[in-house]
Amino acid sequence: MGKCMIIGCGGVASVAIHKCCQNSEVFEGIMIASRTKSKCDTLRDKLQPTTKTVIETAQVNADNVDELITLINSYKPDVVLNLALPYQDLTIMDACLATKTHYVDTANYEPLDTAKFEYKWQWAYREKFEQAGITALLGSGFDPGVTGVFSAYALKHEFDEINYIDILDCNGGDHGYPFATNFNPEINIREVSAKGSYIENGEWVETEPMEIKRVYNFKGVGEKDMYLLHHEELESLALNIKGIKRIRFFMTFGQSYLTHLKCLENVGMTSIEPIMYEGREIVPLQFLKAVLPDPATLGSRTVGKTNIGCIFRGKKDSKDKTYYLYNICDHQECYREVGSQAISYTTGVPAMIGAMMIMTGQWNRAGVYNIEEFDPDPFMKALNEWGLPWEEDFNPVLVD
Ligand code: NDP
Repeated sequence: MGKCMIIGCGGVASVAIHKCCQNSEVFEGIMIASRTKSKCDTLRDKLQPTTKTVIETAQVNADNVDELITLINSYKPDVVLNLALPYQDLTIMDACLATKTHYVDTANYEPLDTAKFEYKWQWAYREKFEQAGITALLGSGFDPGVTGVFSAYALKHEFDEINYIDILDCNGGDHGYPFATNFNPEINIREVSAKGSYIENGEWVETEPMEIKRVYNFKGVGEKDMYLLHHEELESLALNIKGIKRIRFFMTFGQSYLTHLKCLENVGMTSIEPIMYEGREIVPLQFLKAVLPDPATLGSRTVGKTNIGCIFRGKKDSKDKTYYLYNICDHQECYREVGSQAISYTTGVPAMIGAMMIMTGQWNRAGVYNIEEFDPDPFMKALNEWGLPWEEDFNPVLVD
């Protein structure tokens, strides 16, 4: 069917690449292009004997628009799947515009010097993408990603209007380390040490980091502490889902993780302000990343399950209704299949599906869109087919 260029070759990209190779009918060719080419070559050498997908590799600095344009022009992919870091979103979008190539990512742009998660920078490209006749699909991971597809599906099939959404992200996995992050430590720590927030009646309500705590009993995992966080999909879902009065995001954390994080914060190790060290400038959080376990190596050690989903409350035929859509994913099953833990898996599978939606023309609209703006049905079907089956509950326990 076509060719996809995947930028980045870390934890999430590795899963997406495995999945593209399982789906050779759609992904006839892929190019893995990243900063460290040796990682791309290692993955190609492992996967090429197992797949009909023709795998090419390249070195690229995705901060450099001209380099990206040259590479895209030489490979001519139908879609660029951005699985590098949020800092690269805008340069990759610029290169897609210049080459008229569709764009897909899993996380919204974030400037390097401020931990700020907002869509405004990427939404500013709407007209340019429309005029170029190409699609930018924003946030095709799990959250954002599947949570948006779940919301669009709930609105389409189960509700006339949705008034409340609680997104619950539970990781019941145990990697045996006192402290490690499940995806890029720098991005992860920037996210969880920021102030919390949620949207109520169209306004952002801000909280102190980890100020709001609830306990929830997750199917497949059991009872866990969860904390309200700011999360990027709140911004787009509050605009795109009809009738929203309040939308919140909760993530589970164990006590050991929180105690370590607090200590690291207290000594200044999570700061993104550069400091001078032995005559050169370093960013404490980037140094911390260098000493923490690489998330890509956690797969073999992690046992347990994730359970991520959305609880909806709203109206159907003028009656109150509640509905819970979620996926349960087992760390060790993921590891056996693709050599990664479930956090990378639950992000990499929807990234492949998002690229597939565009390559197959099932999602076909020029402009910049968040995932919930497309028809959820083919994506929901693909989740069941490609390893993230969903479950539903019409009488869930609610979060107060
Ligand atoms: P990793 O750090 O494991 O991988 C990032 C990759 O990008 C690495 O291969 C890195 O290269 C490459 N890279 C970084 N900078 C550049 C650059 N300038 N040019 C080219 N390549 C570059 O991160 P993850 O795989 O954990 O995360 C990938 C993305 O997925 C992130 O944006 C993250 O926010 C997002 N994510 C989204 C989730 C969701 O549910 N929506 C959940 C989890 C993650 P090198 O190998 O040289 O370091």
